[in-house]
Amino acid sequence: MKYKRILLKLSGEALMGDKQYGIDAVRLEQYVNEIKEVKDLGVEIAIVIGGGNIFRGVQAESSGIDRVQGDYMGMLATVINAMALQSALEKTGMYTRLMSGIKIEEVCEPFIKRRAVRHLEKGRIVIFGAGIGNPYFTTDSTASLRAIEMEADVVLKGTRVDGVYTADPEKDTTATKYPQISFQEVYEKGLNVMDMTAFTLCQENNLPIIVFDMNKSGNLKAIVAGEEVGTLIS
Ligand code: UDP
Repeated sequence: MKYKRILLKLSGEALMGDKQYGIDAVRLEQYVNEIKEVKDLGVEIAIVIGGGNIFRGVQAESSGIDRVQGDYMGMLATVINAMALQSALEKTGMYTRLMSGIKIEEVCEPFIKRRAVRHLEKGRIVIFGAGIGNPYFTTDSTASLRAIEMEADVVLKGTRVDGVYTADPEKDTTATKYPQISFQEVYEKGLNVMDMTAFTLCQENNLPIIVFDMNKSGNLKAIVAGEEVGTLIS
């Protein structure tokens, strides 16, 4: 295996599938199957999940809710997704632990770095809910930070687009995909990979990112095996 310990970032929106809101059971099951394939190869897996399918902090301001309050609501949304994912993973016999950036002790363990690493070493899938636990951050930043703390080999950003393009491929048909690109080039060209905080954390800590299409069956396994899928940023 090319990667022995991975951090998989899934957006909340991806979990919606074709729905307008919430969690799509079919999509959730599909993701669980992809994750199981990789787990069966002995790869250590940490997962950060977003909350955009339920609530985003920036949304709050337009509805008159205080931004910080809204961000905490967003963090709670990620916990809902994380709980759904945990349950679905366990149904297939995988061992998991859900760790939260804010204390919700009836539901999740608090995030303790050494403990999280130990869970991974024991073969448990660790899901990080509630982001970093601070407002004004995103789950992409959480993915970068936790990957660094866990000493993961790579951040795998699963999206519905199969990599980084010269322009938005959903809007510009002439856009072409980069199989590989450097952090510097992404920055200079102003390409949208992750928010700047998340991106800079990876760059400064030499942590490669792979952006790939999580909805294409077999992609996750192929990446872990070292095949060229999506776009590698290093
Ligand atoms: N959030 C936060 N701090 C964090 C992580 C998340 O405040 O460390 C809030 C923020 O309001 C964000 C929301 O949680 O909009 C949901 O996360 P995100 O938008 O990153 O989810 P995704 O876009 O991946 O679905």
